[in-house]
Amino acid sequence: MAPPTRSALDMIRALVGFDTVSSKSNLALIDFVRDYLAGHGIDSRYIRSEDGTKANLWATIGPDEPGGVVLSGHTDVVPVAGQPWESDPFEVVENDGRLYGRGTADMKSFIAIALSLVPDMLARPLTRPIHFALTHDEEVGCLGAPRLIADVLANLPRPGAVIIGEPTQMRVVDAHKGITAYTTIVTGHEAHSSLTHRGVNAVMQAARLIAHLGDQAAQKAAQPELNSRFDPPYTTIHVGTVEGGTALNIVARNCAFKWEIRALPGDDPQDILARFEAFCRDEVVPAMQRVVPETGVETRPGVIVPALAPEPDSAAEKLARDLTGANATDAVSYATEGGQYQRAGIPAIVCGPGNIEQAHQPNEWIALEQIAASQSFTRRLIAKCQADA
Ligand SMILES: [Zn+2]
Repeated sequence: MAPPTRSALDMIRALVGFDTVSSKSNLALIDFVRDYLAGHGIDSRYIRSEDGTKANLWATIGPDEPGGVVLSGHTDVVPVAGQPWESDPFEVVENDGRLYGRGTADMKSFIAIALSLVPDMLARPLTRPIHFALTHDEEVGCLGAPRLIADVLANLPRPGAVIIGEPTQMRVVDAHKGITAYTTIVTGHEAHSSLTHRGVNAVMQAARLIAHLGDQAAQKAAQPELNSRFDPPYTTIHVGTVEGGTALNIVARNCAFKWEIRALPGDDPQDILARFEAFCRDEVVPAMQRVVPETGVETRPGVIVPALAPEPDSAAEKLARDLTGANATDAVSYATEGGQYQRAGIPAIVCGPGNIEQAHQPNEWIALEQIAASQSFTRRLIAKCQADA
């Protein structure tokens, strides 16, 4: 396998150099990529976030036709604050066959390698378009991709396959769980803690609701998917935070908790929510309102990232297996933008350089060998898209 080219390494260095932690703007990086592509005569399309402080970028090389291959990567990275980094996270350091820096594995290298190969994409005409899809705010709930997907479907020829370059060590991943998050707000009624019968204790009602979620979680765990590739092989339900009450001697008026469902593909998280809502409506709220009518429970939806379901022999799976030589596919436990494309009717696969174990860690790194593998993967893709020229 050919070693990483200087231009690939320089592009990784450049992209990692932009501090694109999700809470900050990614526009400097997006403008840099636009200028780079413009230098090769390629136009970019911006799909801005609602408040305009961030943007997705879409660019096409090759014919203005449907059926193209999308190389998709998120531009944001997770925070570095509080982590024991041994070097500047936003400056790539090469050591012992590795590149260190925030986003080297998750996931600036994949896009950087593809961008460095733009001259190869232009060297011979592509008969099948290659698209770049760079998104914002993936790490905080895949918030950027839906606008980009909607814009492309409304205005541009429909792509045929998406490769999400999240770190899989170049294995072909065709399935992941989805994420559905909620905040449940319990409003009770204060009283002196010696007069519990005159109040409605929001903390204790929240505890009932959380116990109900625990029961649903246990039911899921008791019925694992047979021959599953997932660890664990069932849909999980988890409460992440609880906040409530003001003092020991006051019956708590307020309590709120955040929870999420990580559902297997094919397991509808709405069923879990519906059972939870029924328990609220039929058991918890009536008991609260018998004491004080103005009390209640409200559940607000948060982030929703759909699962990626296996689509054997989809255009994306066939392409990725062809390019990697893999004869098997894998499932992963983390979520990606792949399910959002799939839901929009565009087959997607996850396949990219680096190891997810290094993602989100201090001293995040990627092996040069993985960069070389991603580079030859992209070169094979380019050759395939030039095949009939
Ligand atoms: Zn990622």
